[in-house]
Amino acid sequence: MHISRRDFITTTVVGPLALGAGAAAAANAAAAGAGSSATAGKRPIIVSSGNGYDYLDAAYEFLKDGGDTLDAAIRVVKGPEDDPNEDSVGLGGLPNEEGVVELDACCMHGPSRRAGSVGGVRNIRNVSLVAKAVIEHTGHVMLVGEGAERFAAAMGFARENLLTQRSRKTWLLWKEFHSSDDWWGPGLAHPDWRAPENIAASDAREQGIRRLAERAADLGIEPEYRMAAVRKVLFPPTGTIHCSALDEQGAMSGITTTSGLAYKLPGRLGDSPVIGAGCFTDQDVGSAGATGSGEENIKVAGAHTIVENMRHGMSPLDAGMDALKRIVRNYGGDKQRLRFMDMTYYILRKDGAYAGVSLWEGYEPGKPHRIAVHDGSQRSEPTIPLFAGASQEFPPFPKVPAERLKEIS
Ligand code: ASP
Repeated sequence: MHISRRDFITTTVVGPLALGAGAAAAANAAAAGAGSSATAGKRPIIVSSGNGYDYLDAAYEFLKDGGDTLDAAIRVVKGPEDDPNEDSVGLGGLPNEEGVVELDACCMHGPSRRAGSVGGVRNIRNVSLVAKAVIEHTGHVMLVGEGAERFAAAMGFARENLLTQRSRKTWLLWKEFHSSDDWWGPGLAHPDWRAPENIAASDAREQGIRRLAERAADLGIEPEYRMAAVRKVLFPPTGTIHCSALDEQGAMSGITTTSGLAYKLPGRLGDSPVIGAGCFTDQDVGSAGATGSGEENIKVAGAHTIVENMRHGMSPLDAGMDALKRIVRNYGGDKQRLRFMDMTYYILRKDGAYAGVSLWEGYEPGKPHRIAVHDGSQRSEPTIPLFAGASQEFPPFPKVPAERLKEIS
């Protein structure tokens, strides 16, 4: 077994926290260029979360050739939905605490001023298309759970098991890791069962990681993915894809799709299916979408707040920063709490100006959140953070000293 030091050093060592709220934003805004365009941009243009980058080119060509803006945005998000190795959306998304994948999506079509949303959908991979079907084939806006799945089946979407072997084994590893008080994991008769040891807390942490990696090997998780799986057990990941598209004439649409927070309670909906939180498009103003801590974004109706801010004259950058500051205000500016959440907004104004903003620089030092942009040239730019430094993953995991990590490696 090999535990790479690099794999854990970034997850176990507390990242530097800048305490001057807004300082990083001000500095970055002054240097704006990456992650934002303050004055009118180009049309057509597509912006998405960083994980949409690979799919922008084809969608841009489609948009440029006169394709509908919602269809263009769906072309971007459908790529990760179909990718079994992308574990934050669609097929292969990490499941809820019972091992069942539940997907959420919402979309808004600017030109027709219509919206569609589905939440907690099981067994159907392309919930972005199901959200669009809600617009086209119902008089409703939101469908959830079993009803949404039955609607999708009626629309001809194939039912399938969305749990890949990889996501199933990662969930099983998570289940066993949190199961010292129940019957999951190897029992007394299993050759791998070991009595709990009476050891110092710091050693217990290291041994916990070591055993987790060993158990990942026992479960047949491929060596190259093993440490990533261990990490996803210790720090349940979030992950989502948003895309907004604006055509040459100024029509625009937005969509957000996700498998939500890994190991969530069954039935939990995050911000992604909530129109006005995970996505909002107003044909007169602009479009915005979100990835990150869904519970926090719902409370500030992030995407709607941003579009309203732009309606009242704010730039995309300022509009996004204001929404982030509302999250900060909800916690009275308490960074002991704020450092365990993160939020990224992708913002597009009707004139083609755009911004990517985030509460923190990224999930890990040196790895910024990114906004992917295509306006004739395809690029990926770091978002502009409100606070300097990386957010910390939740739940908090105590630091393992670097020299001990070296020994484990
Ligand atoms: N916002 C998503 C949710 O809360 C997760 C994410 O974007 O990472 O479900």
